[in-house]
Amino acid sequence: MKYLIILIILSFCFALLYLRLRPYIATARRILDVFREARRLNVNLKPNDTQARPPAATNERLVHCAACGAWLPASRALVLRATNTVYCSPDCLERAAGQAENRKTAN
Ligand SMILES: [Zn+2]
Repeated sequence: MKYLIILIILSFCFALLYLRLRPYIATARRILDVFREARRLNVNLKPNDTQARPPAATNERLVHCAACGAWLPASRALVLRATNTVYCSPDCLERAAGQAENRKTAN
């Protein structure tokens, strides 16, 4: 009889503990679901990521800015078609044009 009472008390304690922990267990399961979903999305995104990268960007020809001397890829350079001169930015182009203008007025 004594053992039966102890057993009932123990099972009551376990039931109480389970009811207390149930929200936490549900939350943990939801977090796990989110992680699983995120991993699935990552796996789906990886092939697209490699395709989005521009191919062979390092093989591009480098050109020399006539104003500041910086080297830059030909696709990003400003090329003056009249003289075939290369500039890295509009600033350099304007500076070179200003220098040419000054030389013209000095002579
Ligand atoms: Zn420059």
